Amino acid sequence: MTEFGPPMHAAPKPSEAPVVVAAPERHDWTVDEAEALLDLPFNDLLFSAQRGHRARFDPNLIQLSTLLSIKTGGCSEDCGYCSQSAHHETTLERERLLELNQVLDAARAARAVGSSRFCMGAAWRNPTEKNLERVLAMVEGVKALGMETCVTLGMLTAGQAQRLADAGLDYYNHNLDTSPEFYGQVISTRTYQDRLETLDHVRAAGLKTCSGGILGMGEGRRDRASMLCQLANLPAHPESVPINLLVQIEGTPLFGTDALDPFELVRTIAAARLMMPGSYVRLSAGRDDMSDELQALCFLAGANSVFYGERLLTTDNAGSDRDRALFGRLGLAFETVEAPDRAEPGGCHRHTNDHDRARSPRVEQAR
Ligand code: SF4
Repeated sequence: MTEFGPPMHAAPKPSEAPVVVAAPERHDWTVDEAEALLDLPFNDLLFSAQRGHRARFDPNLIQLSTLLSIKTGGCSEDCGYCSQSAHHETTLERERLLELNQVLDAARAARAVGSSRFCMGAAWRNPTEKNLERVLAMVEGVKALGMETCVTLGMLTAGQAQRLADAGLDYYNHNLDTSPEFYGQVISTRTYQDRLETLDHVRAAGLKTCSGGILGMGEGRRDRASMLCQLANLPAHPESVPINLLVQIEGTPLFGTDALDPFELVRTIAAARLMMPGSYVRLSAGRDDMSDELQALCFLAGANSVFYGERLLTTDNAGSDRDRALFGRLGLAFETVEAPDRAEPGGCHRHTNDHDRARSPRVEQAR
């Protein structure tokens, strides 16, 4: 009892919370429907998204991925947000493709701090056969450490996607970036259809898809709705949906773009959660500049994955110390995949959904 007397009714304990029935997956979203979600009163949208999130996931569990740039800069594409494009005058230094041992050292370090997935990004329009051979060895090496693997190498042919799958790759990242309507304002060297075709090859090879977009590039809310429709209406929802907030880099065409209202980021994550209910929604680039409170709202909206570590491809990320402190304050735990050489028999396993049951994530408290 408090000085104000007993509460009218006690909040239910988690075990007594009502079971929320998972909404079925849909692949026929219209832009009007998606925009109507984004237009909802903020509290209504977040409540719906949190209910949907709880129906399929443990709401207090976050998946951690670490991203390494394995080949930096000098890219022939002209993506307007990217410091790695050879079309833009930025201070970024070009680097050659890393050696296998450098990549494996970075993967071991990521595993040691709790990352379950190791993502490797190369600034290429598409991989050459010679470069692909070297990446295949990296995939095999990181897999042998017991981590999930993801690569982002630009456009792929069907054959290249299959070779990556044969090497044991789990995920291929290829973002749609924005809506088809706004796309031409950001990139001119590859078409939206090129991106969709690479996603087709990835899916056909049996790889899991990681695909999302970037907010704050000057697009409108309807563009964000249209991008979500493109993702949700793919033949299968991407298993992972990164939602990035533009990191403005001097020398890129998008430097100086008006900053996005942060609530638009939260709304977009909530709509992504509702439209792709079984996908991991990753709060990605831009987190370094976000307040703890904004990140907490994003988790409430259904984000359940982050990039973990001090760097993203070429920009700063929220540091792992800051993340651990934040997760601790929010009571969030993180998933890790058990590595063969550090598995603990009889250790604590919790499972979040069918996909995770298959791979038995180990859960560690962030505290
Ligand atoms: S986003 Fe990727 S494809 Fe586009 S310029 Fe940067 S590295 Fe190249």
